[in-house]
Amino acid sequence: MSKLLIVGTVAFDAIETPFGQTDKILGGAATYISLSAAQFGVSSGIVSVVGGDFPKEYLAKLNTKNINTDGVEIIEDGKTFFWSGKYHNDLNTRDTLITDLNVLADFNPVVPKEYANTDFLMLGNLHPAVQMGVINQIPNRPKLVVLDTMNFWMDNALDELMEVIAKIDVITINDEEARQLSGEYSLVRAAQKIHKMGPKYVVIKKGEHGALLFNNGDVFFAPALPLEEVFDPTGAGDTFAGGFIGYLAKTQDISFENMKRAVISGSNLASFCVEKFGTERMEDLTTKEIEERLLQFKQLTQFEIELG
Ligand code: AMP
Repeated sequence: MSKLLIVGTVAFDAIETPFGQTDKILGGAATYISLSAAQFGVSSGIVSVVGGDFPKEYLAKLNTKNINTDGVEIIEDGKTFFWSGKYHNDLNTRDTLITDLNVLADFNPVVPKEYANTDFLMLGNLHPAVQMGVINQIPNRPKLVVLDTMNFWMDNALDELMEVIAKIDVITINDEEARQLSGEYSLVRAAQKIHKMGPKYVVIKKGEHGALLFNNGDVFFAPALPLEEVFDPTGAGDTFAGGFIGYLAKTQDISFENMKRAVISGSNLASFCVEKFGTERMEDLTTKEIEERLLQFKQLTQFEIELG
């Protein structure tokens, strides 16, 4: 069985959408990625940090999904990373209200011994210096390294981010971030420029408008499933990334053809994430539900046409 190591925030989130708001609930990039990848039965472990205020039940919840949290350091006298965001009426855009790094500010990641030989490495959203710290602790290059990041790190740690981007295979970012990183409005041009920074594969997430996968001239598009109700988009990008790498880790095939299926897998899982607040929907998801929706994806995108 493939091993998957996931780095990213484990956090408290406070979310406001047109449908309501939450107090501090379980969130964080690594949380969503791991819950999503857990659907593929790979052996996954998280490297992250939380404060003494983080409920032990939250980690236990992840453990019940077979997610190893030995690499989640607990700083007893520190406070957990806190993020708060407010969505606009279209639910496609949001404002970040608060980003309190707290224990993340001085985090020195330690990769647990059993994951130092990981086959797949998911560098989820957090400080690029931490992402680099993890790469440097893995002696043999994993089969695939995927990185996700966001505008916050482009604004606050661009040089360190560029160093990490030079070392990875796949980058997943949203359309606005791709534009910010490349300085190009056209996403095709943005992907070309990002290829030159290092990654062979560029995945651009476009929220309810799906995702694009670029590989030096080849492009694949996966739609997002049109949903009757979107409740809370928080974590959709991370859930997508978890579904993408989880599928690749399970199938152990990193060809472009298989990456297309991985992008569909990510989109499929993200479509569940947005149906309830926070991680709630990802926690009770069943294999039957996932497969039924994959069929809907197939039907959504299949058509016959005669040429000539
Ligand atoms: P997404 O909606 O997929 O972009 O991810 C939302 C998650 O990202 C939330 O659970 C937050 O805790 C986490 N998050 C927000 N800002 C940051 C940041 N600057 N670094 C790392 N994680 C973040």
